[in-house]
Amino acid sequence: MIKAVFFDFVGTLLSKEFEDITHQNIIREALRRVKAENVDPLKVWEEYEALTGEKFKEYAGKPYKPIRVLEEEIVEEIAKKYGFEIPHDFWKIHLKMHQEYGKLYDEAIETLKTLKANGYHVGMITDSDNDYLSAQLEALGILGFFDTITTSEEAGFYKPHPRMFELALQKANLKGEEAIYVGDNPLKDCVGSRSVDMISVLLDKKGDKKEFWKECEFIISDLREVLVILEELNGQ
Ligand code: CA
Repeated sequence: MIKAVFFDFVGTLLSKEFEDITHQNIIREALRRVKAENVDPLKVWEEYEALTGEKFKEYAGKPYKPIRVLEEEIVEEIAKKYGFEIPHDFWKIHLKMHQEYGKLYDEAIETLKTLKANGYHVGMITDSDNDYLSAQLEALGILGFFDTITTSEEAGFYKPHPRMFELALQKANLKGEEAIYVGDNPLKDCVGSRSVDMISVLLDKKGDKKEFWKECEFIISDLREVLVILEELNGQ
């Protein structure tokens, strides 16, 4: 019997397309603050995305180091290369732009509401700093949907480290086989959740992660399909 559904955040509930727009606006605002008009924000953004991607790959499964620090290291490296100063309140700009431009996938609220109405434990397990996450969830108006939230900051590790998933189950007082985990990263989300016997569901909206589908038990392209999987598993 499945009693809980845990979600990843960025790229699963939070739209990846709007996340890109958010990051572009962080760079634009940072450059504006330090009057670096000669620097191309889109070029800086592309480099920022590439370096962030590398950094998160490097830290997968490793002990937690604040994302705030990782981001500042990346921006420092780029700023040196392009010859601009970093605004002293870079992290504040980061949080503010996420609150302003972050957007959920269209079907996210409907899915969360239905799960709550059907009595499921709704949880989140995400590679995140606590201050970013609470500010963002509050701005999106969905903080109240979650029975439990487990971050890397709290668990002390990044996904796919099992500690993230174990801690979430412990907080919900559930066993792995009583929960499903929905994420958009097969190597972090499917591998991590399966390591504690959760049922892994991959959200692959564009169908471009086929080579990694074997890591996951279910593949969906729309969050509402989670409700169908639950019916199937629980025999409703
Ligand atoms: Ca994700």
